Amino acid sequence: MQLADLAGPVTDAHVHLMPDRLMRAIRDALNDAAGWEFPHPTEREAMEENLRAAGVDRYLALPYAHKPGIAAELNDWVLARADESAMAVPFATVHGDDDVDEVVHDAFEAGARGLKFQCPVQECGPADPRLDPAFELAAEYDRPVLFHAGTAPMFEDSPHVGIDQFREFLDSYPGVRACCAHMGTFNHEAFLETARDNDNVFLDTAVAMATAGDTVRFDPGEVGDDVFEELAGRVMFGSDYPNIPHSYRAEWEGLLARELSDEAFEALFGGAADRFLGAR
Ligand SMILES: [Zn+2]
Repeated sequence: MQLADLAGPVTDAHVHLMPDRLMRAIRDALNDAAGWEFPHPTEREAMEENLRAAGVDRYLALPYAHKPGIAAELNDWVLARADESAMAVPFATVHGDDDVDEVVHDAFEAGARGLKFQCPVQECGPADPRLDPAFELAAEYDRPVLFHAGTAPMFEDSPHVGIDQFREFLDSYPGVRACCAHMGTFNHEAFLETARDNDNVFLDTAVAMATAGDTVRFDPGEVGDDVFEELAGRVMFGSDYPNIPHSYRAEWEGLLARELSDEAFEALFGGAADRFLGAR
């Protein structure tokens, strides 16, 4: 089975769209830390051509600000690219040391559909009080937040990730839909348990569910088919494209090979993202 064989439109809920200079810096950092090389383009047109060829109709375009002072411009850039695109759903970001309220308010007013935080890299996470103005605006505007909140692939020592921080966020902002990227790896059991208890918790499959050997030292088989049935509508297909050291196919082929109901497949590849975005 291919993505194009699915009945509904396909959404990739975890794609990075950022200016070339930033993408190069991110890739250099990942190359230094993990030795990863990236065979995928970073320009919007080329990325979208490849995604469309793979059967993707729409993607969440995620930026993140690794230092203060760049988020506002970065958000504007993503919003402008999304304006030119039939596929990109623009997200925004902010750094803890920015004027958080102003940056996020401007981004939401300009059309950003949610927020993305790469918590360990940005050194600000779901329980960081500096981000409270951002989370309050997410509640006010009914926009979801996507966190890199797990410890994979190299953040076991970061104080900005982990289930405790994420749960603190859920307690503080019970009305905000929150996704923990990468199935919460390497704390996936705790994140799955939290998702079972809370309808506003989402997960994405990016990299964690890839059939790519030991890219992140996680066996996708640890997540049973029953999880995709039980949490249908809250597990979103995502890829981390184009910053993956393996093929795009590796991100979806293991998922499509699972024995899931039509409803679970529809939710995984589209419905859950709609729900995350507040569209249903
Ligand atoms: Zn990512």
